[in-house]
Amino acid sequence: KLSNRLQSLLNHIPAGSRLADIGSDHALLPTAAVQTGVCVSAVAGEVNSGPHRAAEKQVQEAGLAAVISVRKGDGLDVIHPGEVDVITIAGMGGGLISSILDRGHTQGKLQGIHRLILQPNVGEDLLRKWLVKHHWVLIEEDILEEDGKIYEVLTAVPEEEEVNGLTNEELYQTYRLNSGLEVPQAWLLRFGPWLIRKPVFVFHAKWRSELGKMAKILASLAKSELSSASEKAGELKQEMDTIKEVLSCLQ
Ligand code: SAM
Repeated sequence: KLSNRLQSLLNHIPAGSRLADIGSDHALLPTAAVQTGVCVSAVAGEVNSGPHRAAEKQVQEAGLAAVISVRKGDGLDVIHPGEVDVITIAGMGGGLISSILDRGHTQGKLQGIHRLILQPNVGEDLLRKWLVKHHWVLIEEDILEEDGKIYEVLTAVPEEEEVNGLTNEELYQTYRLNSGLEVPQAWLLRFGPWLIRKPVFVFHAKWRSELGKMAKILASLAKSELSSASEKAGELKQEMDTIKEVLSCLQ
C-alpha cells in the first residue's frame, strides 16, 4: 500500500497523464500511478545506482516494464521533449528540487509540462520562490502528517494555463487575516499562500513544532559567547513572535 504522503501526490495527477517521477527511488509512485489507471505511462528517473536498481526491480516484478521506463540520470535530463505532461518530485529538500527544476527549465524540459507536483521535506519557501520566478502558479497546497513527520505537497500549473484560480500576484499580495493582521509576501512564501487561507490542524502542529526548534536555537544562542549571537537571537525572537501572532489569529 502506498504511503499517505505518496498517495497525496497521486491524488493530484490528472487521469490519463504521462508522468515523470524524478528521484523515484523504488518507483513506488509511478507503479501505483499506472496500476490504478491514473497514468498511461511513466518515466522513473534516478541519479543513484542503488535506487535506480531498486526501481528497475520494482517495475520488472510488477510486470510494467512496457509502460514504465526506468532511467538513470540527473534530474530532468532523463525526459525527452513532449514525452510527459506531469512531473512529480518528492522527498528531497526544496533547494534541491528547485535546482533540478532550474536546470530542466534552462534545458527547455518544462515545455509541454502541464503540472508539477512537489513534496519538499524542508525549504518550501525556496521552492515557492522558484515557482513564482518561473511563472508557475500554485493551484493547491496540502499538508499531512505521517509517522510523526509533517509533509507539504505543492501542485502548480503554468501561469498562462491557470484560468479559474488566483494569479501569483493575487496569491502573494499582502494577505489580511480576519483579525486585521497583515501577512506580507515573505511570510506567505513560508506559510504557503493556500495553507494560510485554510489552516488545518496539521498546519498549526507544523508551526508549533517549528517554534519548538527555534526556541532551542534561541536557548543555545543565549549561552553563546559569540559577538553575533545576540543579534541573531533578536532576529530569531522577532521571527518567533511573527509566527505566534499569525497562529493566534488563525485559531
Ligand atoms: N521520491 C521518493 C519518495 O518520495 O518516496 C524517493 C525519495 S528519496 C528520499 C530521494 C531520491 O532522490 C533518492 O533516491 C536520490 O537518489 C534521488 N535524487 C537525488 N537527487 C537527484 C537528482 N538530481 N536526480 C534524480 N534523482 C535524484
